[in-house]
Amino acid sequence: MLKISELSAHYGSVQALHHVNVQVNEGEIVTLIGANGAGKSTLMNTIFGYPRASGGSIAFEGRDITKRPSHEIAKFDIAIVPEGRRIFQRMTVMENLLMGDTSRDRRTSQDLERMVGMFPILGNRASQRAGTLSGGEQQMLAIARALMSHPRLLLLDEPSLGLAPIYIKKIFSVIRELNTQYGMTVLLVEQNAHHALRVAHRGYVLQHGHIALEGDGRSLLADPAVRAAYLEGD
Ligand code: ATP
Repeated sequence: MLKISELSAHYGSVQALHHVNVQVNEGEIVTLIGANGAGKSTLMNTIFGYPRASGGSIAFEGRDITKRPSHEIAKFDIAIVPEGRRIFQRMTVMENLLMGDTSRDRRTSQDLERMVGMFPILGNRASQRAGTLSGGEQQMLAIARALMSHPRLLLLDEPSLGLAPIYIKKIFSVIRELNTQYGMTVLLVEQNAHHALRVAHRGYVLQHGHIALEGDGRSLLADPAVRAAYLEGD
């Protein structure tokens, strides 16, 4: 479904990605783990065109999207929940959800019902300003807003970052539910390697902009190098 081949990306003269190869097949949850600054967010953002790839290619369902502007990429059934969530703080929860409704398929009320079914708290807080929600609630809102556009590929950038354990559990169970019940394909960037590798079918370890390891979730979880670098203390 998503094929990233020999991808390189730069910020000025600094190279953040070096010939990265990542593949996400339809129906999979694939995770990308790595330390701070390894290039995880850069890889996600390059899919949407910032920064632009300086080498290699990105294909979605066989079509080259490497040089397409980000508003066009959103039309390709790909949605991103960026790091830091970026919800509209002054708008209500409901207004935020409606901002995500780009599908123009007139199924808005059905979609809203589905989101509230998945995240009941958003129904209870529908007319509340989004900025007054807790971090975990905001993350749920950001995911629900992305789902309003009916993506087939969902990109999640560190959804568990800074959240209380109860919300971390909820976020990962939602990811699993989206995949098993709705067949959603997910690319998940995480520093929380333990949770991410447990939920993912396959994973990649990014180190200094290079793919250092790849494998199925279970074998990466058991890998001594991964354990030493990312799971110490778990
Ligand atoms: P984190 O978990 O901290 O978000 P990451 O793995 O997502 O880390 P990136 O944010 O992709 O890593 O950063 C990769 C490298 O690119 C780092 O060296 C970082 O300092 C650099 N970098 C990231 N964004 C920019 C930017 N806008 N301008 C310049 N350099 C950047």
